Amino acid sequence: STPVAPSFQPVIEQIAADIAATPGRGRPADYIPALASADPHRFGMAVAELDGTVYGVGDWRRPFSSQSITKVFTLALVLSLEGEALWERVGREPSGNPFNSLVQLEYENGIPRNPFINAGALVVTDRLHTLTGDAAGALRTFLRAESGNPGLDFDEKIAASEAAHGDRNAALAHFMASYRNIDNPVPDLLDQYFRQCSLEASCADLALATGFLARHGIRADGSSLLTRSQAKQVNAVMLTCGTYDAAGDFAYRVGLPGKSGVGGGIIAVVPGHCTLCVWSPGLDERGNSVAGVAALDRFTTLTGLSVF
Ligand code: GLU
Repeated sequence: STPVAPSFQPVIEQIAADIAATPGRGRPADYIPALASADPHRFGMAVAELDGTVYGVGDWRRPFSSQSITKVFTLALVLSLEGEALWERVGREPSGNPFNSLVQLEYENGIPRNPFINAGALVVTDRLHTLTGDAAGALRTFLRAESGNPGLDFDEKIAASEAAHGDRNAALAHFMASYRNIDNPVPDLLDQYFRQCSLEASCADLALATGFLARHGIRADGSSLLTRSQAKQVNAVMLTCGTYDAAGDFAYRVGLPGKSGVGGGIIAVVPGHCTLCVWSPGLDERGNSVAGVAALDRFTTLTGLSVF
C-alpha cells in the first residue's frame, strides 16, 4: 500500500484550512525593519512532484525573503564544483547554538560546525565566490533555471538593510579570516552574502528549485548537479542542521530534511517523491515559522510521507 495521494491538492487545502483555524502565529523577524513589517497571517504552501508538477495553496505564488533557505543551494553548488574539499573548511555537525553564534568558532579554530549556521554559510559563499567569481550571481542563475522563473531576483533594499545591520556577520567573517578560513576580502564576501540572503522567491519557485534533492542530484533539465551520494549528504545535513537549534524538534515533528529562513519560509524534501515549501512570516523563539512547521507536521502525518 502506497501512502502517496494521486494529487496533493486536497491535502494541502485541508492543511491551509486547519492552519487558518489555529490561533498563534509567532512574530516576524525584527532584526531588520524590512522583515519586521511582514504580515504573520500570510500563509502559502507548495508541493512539487519530481516531474515539476506543482500544487499550491494560499500565498504560494507570492515572493518572500528566502534568507537562509539559500544556504542549501550555495552548499549544493560548491559541492558540485569542488566536492569533498569543502569539508576541510566547514563541519557537518549540529551546533545546538543559535544561527549567529560566535562561541564555538574559537575553540574549533575558525572551522564552523556546519554549513547552515551563519559562520558556515559565510565559508560556503566564500568558496562559491572564489570558484565562480560571482557567488550571488551563480546562485540566482541556478534558482532561475530550476524554478523556471526568469524574474527571480534579489531585493536590493533588503540587502542594504542586512548590510546596515551586519555587524555580527562581519564579526564572524573577520574572525574566520583570522584563521585563514575566508579567502575573499571580507567586505566583498559580506556583499555577496547579504545579496544571497535577500533573494525573493515564492513557495512555488523554491519547491521547484529544491527538486534536485528529491531526484537524487538530477536538475530540472535532466543534467546532474550532484552525485546520488552527495544529494543524500545534503539531505542529511538539512535533517540534522537545517532548522537552527530546533533541528531535533523539527525531525521529531516533521521527519523530513528541511531548511528554514528568518523570512518565514521552510523547504523540505521527501527523497524520491516530492519537495515542499511553506511560508508564513511569524516565527517561534528559535526562528522557525510557526505555521510553516505546523503545516509540514500535518503534511507528513496526513500523507505518511517522511524519511522515517
Ligand atoms: N540574513 C540573515 C543573517 O545572516 C539570515 C538569517 C537566517 O535566515 O537564518 O542574519
